[in-house]
Amino acid sequence: MSHLQRLGGLWLGSEPAQRLRLRQTSLAMVLMLVSAAMLHHGIALTHGDRGWMWAWTAYGVGGMAAVYAAIRSGWSRRFTDPSLTAVQIAFALSVAALAYAQVGPLRGAVFPVLTLILMFGMFQLRARSAYGLAFYALLVFGAVMAAMARLRPEAYPPEFELIHFLMLAFMLPAVAVLTARLSRIRWRLSQQREELARALAQLQAIATRDELTGLPNRRQMQALMDQELLRSLRHHHDFCIAVLDLDHFKHVNDAHGHAAGDLVLRAFAQAGQAALRATDVLARWGGEEFLVLLPDTAMPLALAGMERLRQQIAALQTDVGSAKVAITVSIGLTGHRRADTLAQTLARADQLLYRAKAEGRNRTCTD
Ligand code: GH3
Ligand code: MG
Ligand code: MG
Repeated sequence: MSHLQRLGGLWLGSEPAQRLRLRQTSLAMVLMLVSAAMLHHGIALTHGDRGWMWAWTAYGVGGMAAVYAAIRSGWSRRFTDPSLTAVQIAFALSVAALAYAQVGPLRGAVFPVLTLILMFGMFQLRARSAYGLAFYALLVFGAVMAAMARLRPEAYPPEFELIHFLMLAFMLPAVAVLTARLSRIRWRLSQQREELARALAQLQAIATRDELTGLPNRRQMQALMDQELLRSLRHHHDFCIAVLDLDHFKHVNDAHGHAAGDLVLRAFAQAGQAALRATDVLARWGGEEFLVLLPDTAMPLALAGMERLRQQIAALQTDVGSAKVAITVSIGLTGHRRADTLAQTLARADQLLYRAKAEGRNRTCTD
């Protein structure tokens, strides 16, 4: 890291949102310092009041330093707008108005600065604050112009000040209108961004979840098993896979209808998940066939887990409206062997499931 980068880090901090706020404030500080230099030069040229000049400088530079400290310390986070943009603009407007009241023939130089000050709001302000600040600026400058026209009419001729005021009365609302337009565009953009994020989350859910049961779908389960395989190779631990098939499920459909069958599938998914540990994954593999992945688990424990699930399913009664339906599940459970592929492990679990069916169902077979 270069010295310059380190200095930048010290000045702006490391958090991106804070850095952006402080960069904006730093730019405003530079503007303030340049304005101060111009003012000092102008006062020297016009033989203005030097005591006033230093008071003005202390007020302007001190105020900006206070704003910087409020943001840099994190204190400003307690407000809706931690960048304190409206406060900075209101403060800068007061500094500009004070300068206007002192520099006499050079006061025309204040107008472009005034525009620049208001432009700082274009990236941050809501429409209402933009209009409010424009109105405030008009009020402050109107008061200063009226006061100066009364107190020093030779330097601030009333008819000139009237023209200056009318110019501001046109310019300030125009800047506010533009700021409000930008604010609306920003709002629409952020709205669209939120919609996109929502749509993306929805797509992700559709791509990874089974619609009927809410369980991970086949694609997601495949990815989870691939991951577990890699983890087990790396950390030398065991994992088990179980294939589950509901017993005589055609019966449920035939006796109570397909909709009732769907209700039973849902109830099975919920009860099955509840019976497992939080790290185990129950997924819908297709139809009324399910898969359980037991990560970082060896056989005796895995068998205990699957038996617990099987017993809880056997005790489950699903209310399908016309009747209460009881089901059982047959399970083929096997541990993954390091030399095997996932497909081989799945085929072995399938074989064990077949055996569980052949031996009378409602049981767990393991090798
Ligand atoms: P077995 O004990 O031998 O498994 O008998 P089974 O009746 O369960 O036989 P099988 O597994 O071959 O039948 C699966 C049935 O599950 C057939 C199909 O109509 C039903 N099924 C599959 N998917 C769904 C589903 O999403 N909803 C409903 N309601 N039924 C389904
Ligand atoms: Mg089946
Ligand atoms: Mg079945």
